[in-house]
Amino acid sequence: MSTTDKQAALVTGGSMGIGRAIALSLAKDGFHVVVNCRKAGKASQEVLEEIKKAGGSAELLCFDVSKKEAGGVVSAWIEAHGPFHALINNAGIRADSLLVWMKDEEWQSVIDTNLNGFYNITRPVIKEMLLGRKGRVVNIVSTAGQAGLAGQVNYSAAKAGLIGATKALAAEVAKRGVTVNAVAPGFIATTMLDGLPLDQVIKRIPAGRLGTPAEVAAVVSFLCSPSAGYITGAVIPVNGGIYM
Ligand code: NDP
Repeated sequence: MSTTDKQAALVTGGSMGIGRAIALSLAKDGFHVVVNCRKAGKASQEVLEEIKKAGGSAELLCFDVSKKEAGGVVSAWIEAHGPFHALINNAGIRADSLLVWMKDEEWQSVIDTNLNGFYNITRPVIKEMLLGRKGRVVNIVSTAGQAGLAGQVNYSAAKAGLIGATKALAAEVAKRGVTVNAVAPGFIATTMLDGLPLDQVIKRIPAGRLGTPAEVAAVVSFLCSPSAGYITGAVIPVNGGIYM
């Protein structure tokens, strides 16, 4: 059984940015939130404290989603505490370069984190969801994966792959009461945008501003709620009207 009598939600890359907002939102919704980060530190401690201060419950689980061993860490948690009700595959990185200049490491690390990370973590989690005949998987993709963005061939490929995986897995597990959806943020104010020419970017966004992590988290919360039980295989944009 779970460490609490609440349903558990696992948020990968939950110590900062969009993942942090998702962790806070799901805790407010009443989930016991398992916040994943690569290494425990100040940021991850602060998320736990903020959740607990607001009356929620949470714990840290450290692993690197891009490593095969991460699946074993997740399986061990499930064995000790019971199945997750919700999995949010949020951990992601970008390593931008034009394809002609791209280094093998830039291609590989982005695919390993954004796409293989989904595989490594979702496999052990979905097995238990299927046995329990319920569950929610939400994959954080990107407008780049829908439209393709110059300078992000690696990232666009990984996110487009994740969109395909979302739709295929949704079809595989729908009869067992498990939904699988993707949320596709546009430009959201986090450290992931460091180094981008934001003045120029904002001019191209119809809403005229960046999005906030909380605006992405609100959609994830809805997808994890009982009201969203008939939504599956969907890709929901949160992008202020920019489709690239
Ligand atoms: P941040 O860089 O702010 O946060 C990324 C998080 O992912 C960090 O907590 C980081 O943890 C974690 N992470 C990275 N690699 C790994 C790994 N191998 N294993 C475990 N955790 C990892 O980015 P955002 O919050 O902006 O991004 C969150 C998601 O949203 C990503 O998937 C991103 O692609 C997507 N997205 C973001 C957009 C934006 O405009 N911000 C737009 C579209 C999509 P650590 O502390 O270990 O580095």
